[in-house]
Amino acid sequence: MSQALRVTDKKLDNKVQADIGKVVCVGRNYAAHAHELGNAVLSSPLLFMKPASSIVSIHNDIIRPDPSVYGDTHYEAELCIQLAADLSDATAEQAQQAIGGVTLGLDLTLRELQSQLKASGHPWERAKCFNGACVLADWLDPQSFNDFTQVTYQLYINDELKQDGDSALMLFPIYELLAEISHAFSLQAGDVIMTGTPSGVGILQAGDQLRLMLGEKQWQSQVR
Ligand code: ZN
Repeated sequence: MSQALRVTDKKLDNKVQADIGKVVCVGRNYAAHAHELGNAVLSSPLLFMKPASSIVSIHNDIIRPDPSVYGDTHYEAELCIQLAADLSDATAEQAQQAIGGVTLGLDLTLRELQSQLKASGHPWERAKCFNGACVLADWLDPQSFNDFTQVTYQLYINDELKQDGDSALMLFPIYELLAEISHAFSLQAGDVIMTGTPSGVGILQAGDQLRLMLGEKQWQSQVR
């Protein structure tokens, strides 16, 4: 297994971005989040992508698209996986073996624009792929996790708990999810999977102090 790629630079350079082929995101992987946005729970995962150009490190300030032009930016805290091996038509066991890194990320979303695009039947890229729309923390060794079916994580904003994630509540658990994606299209070493957000999403305001917590690790950032 090759070593996981690292997104630790203060300013993510082009080389690191180039090493990540794609970011695959999962919509509605927690029933409570589907319900809070008035969406139905699905029988197969809803998939979309973010380009590598949207990735920024959490060690930078979070910069929102101008709200007066684009409307509100929502945070979605998510458990993220990076692959250390290619996966095509994989089994859950093969998917488990391919995990090279684990971290938290923010799937930033222009929610009002997304709602307009959905209502028009248009794709979501304008709401999900802007520069800075994929915020990633530092990659952790998957060996430090005993069981991916029971990973808890939290997002605090201004010291208030906003999102409390538990992978046990995923509608599509991680290994099965990776396998399922690999049947829809090939995943490659370096690719990142954002596994969906729990309930509690909301608007980012200028000056907000964010704290992401994954076990004993935590990362902080602020919104500009
Ligand atoms: Zn998301």
